[in-house]
Amino acid sequence: MSFGVERSEYRNSLDDNLCKGYMKINYQTKNRLNVEINVDSAKDAFKKLAEFQEVFDESHCQLCKSNDLQFIVRTVDGNDYYELKCQSCFAKLAYGQHKSGGSLFPKRKLANGDYDKENHGWHKWAPNGN
Ligand SMILES: [Zn+2]
Repeated sequence: MSFGVERSEYRNSLDDNLCKGYMKINYQTKNRLNVEINVDSAKDAFKKLAEFQEVFDESHCQLCKSNDLQFIVRTVDGNDYYELKCQSCFAKLAYGQHKSGGSLFPKRKLANGDYDKENHGWHKWAPNGN
């Protein structure tokens, strides 16, 4: 028996997993965000990049083409609303949340459920709206 060597099964298994396929991806979005994404496999990289790109890789406002975009979170009655706002024309792209997992996705459908081919979900609020 030796003293001074701390052994923890949990710690060891964690380290083993990290060493197996641990990778970092440096990624720059079209709107100039630099992020470091930690992945442990090629599939994991696909999943994380897919989710990240869907949410954050919006290069410009689809109404006025400005790239001056701002991330907004509004809290109304205890619910958080995630939006990307154009600083030039004040159009917004709203994000929905998946029921399981709570991940975000841009809302790009029209009220009738069709994909918004023209503006890709970007819209201006009605005068009496927000
Ligand atoms: Zn705009």
